[in-house]
Amino acid sequence: LKLDSQSTQATVRSKGLDVPKLWAEEKAKRKPAAAFVVIGHVDHGKSTLMGRLLLDTGAVTQRDVNKYQKQAAEMNKSSFALAWVMDTGDEERERGVTFDFAQHHFSTPKADFTILDAPGHRDFVPNMIGGASMADMAVLVVDANQLESGMKGQTKEHILLAKAVGLKKVIVAINKLDAANPAWSQDLFEQVQADVRKLLLDSGFAEQDIKFVPCSGLGGANVVNAPKASSPAAWVSKAHFTLLQALERSIPPRSADQEVIRQPLRMQIVDVFRGGVTNPVSIAGRISSGSVQIGDIVTVRPSGEKATIRAIDVLDEAKDYAVAGQICSLHLSDIEAQHLRSGDLVCSLQHPVHGRRNVVLLIDVLEPLLPQPVDVHVGRLHVPATISQLVETVDGKGEQLKRRPRLLKVGQRARIKVSFEGSVPLVVGERVIVRSAGVTAAHGIVE
Ligand code: GDP
Repeated sequence: LKLDSQSTQATVRSKGLDVPKLWAEEKAKRKPAAAFVVIGHVDHGKSTLMGRLLLDTGAVTQRDVNKYQKQAAEMNKSSFALAWVMDTGDEERERGVTFDFAQHHFSTPKADFTILDAPGHRDFVPNMIGGASMADMAVLVVDANQLESGMKGQTKEHILLAKAVGLKKVIVAINKLDAANPAWSQDLFEQVQADVRKLLLDSGFAEQDIKFVPCSGLGGANVVNAPKASSPAAWVSKAHFTLLQALERSIPPRSADQEVIRQPLRMQIVDVFRGGVTNPVSIAGRISSGSVQIGDIVTVRPSGEKATIRAIDVLDEAKDYAVAGQICSLHLSDIEAQHLRSGDLVCSLQHPVHGRRNVVLLIDVLEPLLPQPVDVHVGRLHVPATISQLVETVDGKGEQLKRRPRLLKVGQRARIKVSFEGSVPLVVGERVIVRSAGVTAAHGIVE
């Protein structure tokens, strides 16, 4: 972090930058950027594949990997060396208040990428929802050899969640083809491809938004580098992109963001951490609207506390400002860490989002619902709630079909009233996922 002498004082003064103008200039010079979330069944090779991507794009060095290789061999886990790269992104960054989600950056001549990785062990689903709601697209990793056992459970649920948070594009990495019998079996690849395609189409993804990549994260074939012509994997190059090419081709076009940038600041906190002595507390997230610059005073909801922006990092670079669509770290002063939690909302001081105890949701029903206790997930936020009223079932246009139904059935669309215990900062139009007893029961939007 480069802090000038002024900004090391407790309060930083705003430079009064015209951020929309500066961003328009900067954007014209910048490479396209995208963030993706990595999903799929545990052990299907997500971390290894991402480790490979970081290694072969030069974001980490072979020396780093060798270091893990040695440690891994000592523990009889040699095959995990690449996966460990993913666990150690920012060594200098001392993990503070919460940490359940990681970002890794890599660049190619064509684009800048951010991997949003929810470590698989603890509390995966809420973390995945948090990561996915910041992502532009998903990479779904499927072990080609686990078609039967692995497919149905977690893979299916992750597909559903990716859809529920509004992701459109999916790259399916059909992985571990080196371990197929025979190795790199094209038949196996095609069979798995057909099965996963069906799952994705059934969940509402569009054919043109799905790409399939045959690969081996462990060996590295078809991740960044195409397989050698002499290898049994050579066939993949005839009809398939490498994972990296698929990523580059899936970057969503930069939409009309100038308008969103002029709206009031909103950023959900996905991570709270301590960045060092000069930096009492820092937060990370993706700005959903507006912009922020050094010296701005913002407010955090629901606590209502204020904080001063002391420094900003975007893609690990120190910046004077950040805008809607960017994933950034904001280094704060004038606030105590205890007032900052994952799921909280950072808002402009002039136009904060007010917390609500009751909201109406428009949902698509995936599991039968009664007036009952549920968990409501909005990005990284998840709060207990009660369905206090089944208001009505509606048709595709949102027009009433039946008033006050007693029960909501699978496949119905409905409006429900939900009550929280405390006040929750929700924005109209935001995507929500309703879960009950660990099962995703509905998804929809805040009305
Ligand atoms: P995750 O739980 O999905 O992140 O999976 P990991 O990346 O931790 O990998 C789980 C196991 O599968 C490890 O033993 C890896 O070495 C192994 N593995 C991962 N990718 C491949 C691959 O492409 N081929 C083979 N043969 N094994 C792999």
